[in-house]
Amino acid sequence: MSSQHPKGSAEYINRLNKIKVLNLIRESGEISRAEIVKETGLSAPTITRIVDSLINTEKLASQVGIGESKGGRPPVIVQFNGENGYVIGIDWGRTHIYGVLSNLNGEALTKLDVRTDATDDFETDLKRVVNLIEKLIFKSKIDINKLSGIGVAAAGFINKRNDIVEFSPNFNWKDIDIKKPLSEHFKVPIIVDNVSRVMAQGELMYGVGDKHKDFIFINVGYGIGSGIIMKGQPFFGFDGIAGEIGHNRIIGGISGGLRCSCGKVDCLECYSSGRGITEIATKQLSLYPNSTLNKLSKLSTEKIAIAAKEGDEFALQIFNQAADYLGIAIASTANLFNPAAIVLGGRVMNSGNFFTDRIKQVFNREIIQQPSRRIELLQSQLGNEAAVQGATSLILHEVMNFRV
Ligand SMILES: [Zn+2]
Repeated sequence: MSSQHPKGSAEYINRLNKIKVLNLIRESGEISRAEIVKETGLSAPTITRIVDSLINTEKLASQVGIGESKGGRPPVIVQFNGENGYVIGIDWGRTHIYGVLSNLNGEALTKLDVRTDATDDFETDLKRVVNLIEKLIFKSKIDINKLSGIGVAAAGFINKRNDIVEFSPNFNWKDIDIKKPLSEHFKVPIIVDNVSRVMAQGELMYGVGDKHKDFIFINVGYGIGSGIIMKGQPFFGFDGIAGEIGHNRIIGGISGGLRCSCGKVDCLECYSSGRGITEIATKQLSLYPNSTLNKLSKLSTEKIAIAAKEGDEFALQIFNQAADYLGIAIASTANLFNPAAIVLGGRVMNSGNFFTDRIKQVFNREIIQQPSRRIELLQSQLGNEAAVQGATSLILHEVMNFRV
């Protein structure tokens, strides 16, 4: 369903009609051919041709029987065959790669997670991703011809005009093409996009999207990014790198400060990301001999969060600083876009209520005060699944043209 035809051509119109019919069957559960004619306004012979093709060629629909006659010919009922097509979503993170193979109903068949070393180069990681995809297909025992595509979420500035990762501070990638080597291995459509925007799309399809079509997803993980959804569509910006909230400078001063992985100084990420929190704690720990963190051989964001929750003052101070800067940055973003909601997600957002509550407090203090307007500050409904679900939705949305 992904072939490109010139606008206005018979093939193009046929494809649009097919998408319309498929979405109607999918959303209805079961529907008669006569009802499809009525709902779409297309002619009966056109519907017959499209439905027959969906049943016999794409195998995305099946005939489930004959309905009850209300006088005249009994209606022929068709239903969506979500179990007969598959999608893979990949969350290509800095410290782990997570993949899920689902059917077209969005039900996960197989999930696999591999840990990676944050210092590994692209080629090493790529081999892991290829291996993970092969394992997902093998373990799910599916026919590869029924795979509709592979969606990949990765961190970095991805130019949406050519899908090249121009720069990824977290991975230290420059001009990396993820799509080409994957397309050579797997002959299916591959879509690559920035992880935070992908997470936002996951929320749109499977999470808060039920209620909101204008929201900003803030991803606080190893790095920090955001995905902007406006009128139910992702916002890319001119080059495709909109949403890089993590690389906005958060405090003033010409010299000094913390050097960011992007090359600039004092970005939000330096203070509020998983990497930033761990680096600050590691650097300053010797100044706090009473901190329980001194007992650990290696610090991690999770361990610092646990210490903060247990009342360790040093750990709490670092998390409070992270929350304060996040609250300010999110409020500025909300002032700029006027979304209906802000959705907080990413692994660092699992740190605990002490962290989330402080972000909310600062956000409410900093946002433009307007009693007639209300921005909801929500927690991601998908948690650690947001990126894979979003990667899956990329294929459902862009290749299969499923409506959100
Ligand atoms: Zn930066």
